[in-house]
Amino acid sequence: MANLFPFLRINLLTVFFLLPALLLAKPLPVKPLSSEAQKAVWGFFGHKRINRVAVFTLPPEMLGFFKEHIEYITEHSVDPDKRRYAVEGEEQRHYIDIDHYETEGEDPFVHVPRRWDEAVAKFTEDTLQSYGIVPWHIGIMKLRLQKAFESKNVDLILKYASEIGHYIGDAHVPLHTTENYNGQLTGQKGIHGLWESRIVEIDAEEYDYFVGKSVYVASVLDFAWEAVEESHRAVDSVLTIEKALTAEFPSDKKYTYEQRGSVLVQTYSREFCEEYSKRLNGMIERRMRQAIIAVGSIWYTAWVDAGQPDLSTLTNTPPSAELLKELEELEQLYQHAEHKGTICD
Ligand SMILES: [Zn+2]
Repeated sequence: MANLFPFLRINLLTVFFLLPALLLAKPLPVKPLSSEAQKAVWGFFGHKRINRVAVFTLPPEMLGFFKEHIEYITEHSVDPDKRRYAVEGEEQRHYIDIDHYETEGEDPFVHVPRRWDEAVAKFTEDTLQSYGIVPWHIGIMKLRLQKAFESKNVDLILKYASEIGHYIGDAHVPLHTTENYNGQLTGQKGIHGLWESRIVEIDAEEYDYFVGKSVYVASVLDFAWEAVEESHRAVDSVLTIEKALTAEFPSDKKYTYEQRGSVLVQTYSREFCEEYSKRLNGMIERRMRQAIIAVGSIWYTAWVDAGQPDLSTLTNTPPSAELLKELEELEQLYQHAEHKGTICD
């Protein structure tokens, strides 16, 4: 379980101090999870679920190939998060702080051009990179996936299909469209993990995963922007509902400590999560369902735009030794590299 929730880990030093504190039964200070650690969208659990269920939205011509590789597509949905703390340039692909561009009376979705070249001309590439590029990166990944289908390259189809699923999932998370991504500007630190992993972890088995069939998307860029825009419209509710609940909720009941593998982590109590989830009125499930159908639809669109290659000729072709080696290296990097964020704080 521990490696399903690496962003919830606390470092050894914390354990060192926390365990004796517990044993002595002294009142525990509430130490929120670090803000960077909370940035891992949907949690690993959510990303895996989204990619896995998205397979079943595909038409028969694609379903066989994707089902054969469903374990790969599920597991590697989280590769971009494994890279984000260790690889320069990765982090900004996971979000866009669209409210950075909000000026008096101006809608940032009107203010920021959807096209990359126009946005660069208006704000400079440095600025765009600084505040996140998720909608544009989804466009790039779709073209890569399309090329992979065109060349019938199994390794690249698997890699790009898994990874674009991650970025599309990210674009569906409200707190990945705001500078206040972890409630750090409004005294709500930790809300990112609450919304995208703690509650999903508790509620996921209750969600309805019959999301229908994937559809062709005429403009992937517009589609990605619309996902971001819908996410962003929910930010206010995500924050204000949590704030109101916190004000009413007994403060000593908001958090609890749970064993995760060999470590003890502080997390929101089940009661708090259940009440918050209830007040969100199905929002997390709705965003997750939207993400699933979006992932299936972009996979399908990439395949159609590649000329609908016959994937049945690719069956029984496992990922190559080179790809497996590359993935092993990523895993090593993730496990051992010094994280640029404070993922293990
Ligand atoms: Zn991510």
